[in-house]
Amino acid sequence: MRTAQFPSRYVQGLGALERFGPEVARLGKHVLVLADRNLPTGVLDGLNTEGLLAETHLVEPACTQDAIAQTVHRSREMGVDMIAGMGGGKVIDLGRAAADELRLPFVSVPTVAASDAPCSALAVVYDGDGKVLFDRFVRRNPDLVLVDSAVIAAAPARFLSAGIGDALATYFEADACVRSGADNVCGGTATRLAHTVARLCLDTILEKGGGAVDACERGQPDGDFEDVLEATILLSGIGFESGGVAAAHAFHHGIAELPESHGALHGEKVAFGVLAELSLGGESDDRIAEIARFNRSVNLPVCLADLGIGDAEAAIPVIAARATREGEIIHNEPMAVDAQIAADALRRADQLGRSIWRRG
Ligand SMILES: [Zn+2]
Repeated sequence: MRTAQFPSRYVQGLGALERFGPEVARLGKHVLVLADRNLPTGVLDGLNTEGLLAETHLVEPACTQDAIAQTVHRSREMGVDMIAGMGGGKVIDLGRAAADELRLPFVSVPTVAASDAPCSALAVVYDGDGKVLFDRFVRRNPDLVLVDSAVIAAAPARFLSAGIGDALATYFEADACVRSGADNVCGGTATRLAHTVARLCLDTILEKGGGAVDACERGQPDGDFEDVLEATILLSGIGFESGGVAAAHAFHHGIAELPESHGALHGEKVAFGVLAELSLGGESDDRIAEIARFNRSVNLPVCLADLGIGDAEAAIPVIAARATREGEIIHNEPMAVDAQIAADALRRADQLGRSIWRRG
């Protein structure tokens, strides 16, 4: 079965937080706003809750089973009729999971563009030590995704770069799933729509990603910035969920096994995973170098050393073993992959990336 799913409504632009009240009033009256307690001062002040009965709770950015249970309990006591999550991925996932448990509408308000999670129906649940416990697939995508580009542009540019890294994987992984006939992330096979959206995502970031990162560094969002923001949040979100995931994210999971990589963001690990995926797929050195040069132009990793992994030879077998576990998404690729093949692909990508570094 071809399957696709989407957020119900998407609003993006300068000052979008001003629209929160009128937009959310479409869904209900009484909202619990979960806001990351580390949000820069002023961001929360910009949230216009006119016309709503809104109660704000500052929360730790942690989507654990305890935090979900507390949020469910609090929401029941308050009698809210919807939940909003405002912050990075963990706060959004916390709100998403709690709203799902209560069968309430959910509003996603990302304040950074570091990944393609805001539009999805997927919450990553962690244990108390910060390790991933499981992926929780909720019944539906957010009822509203509200993205204030001024807020994203004021956040460190490194987050936008990471979002571009996550978005870079979207087309290559969706395309691998289309070629192999593997399932996407919403319980079916890819639609032509999702494949096309993923392609538009890739074309947009390759053409405009560098300009968008510059605009973010200057704190001056322009048209290219808006296009890249849409690509990283909306296009990549639809592309991965309704297109499918494959080797780049499997390599991410492998890299995340290594404690040295823990300073790197999700999208940074994925960005190197893309180079390894291209290598795995037998792409030419020139093609891989072209993507590696793009990575450098948007401050993304091109080799394992960029991810804090000094001893590549020791790390590669660990990454490859984790990435090729039974049932892992690397097996969505159109060719058979074992740990040896994955290690060879990682090694080639790492060497090409390091040669790009030397050439500058
Ligand atoms: Zn991702």
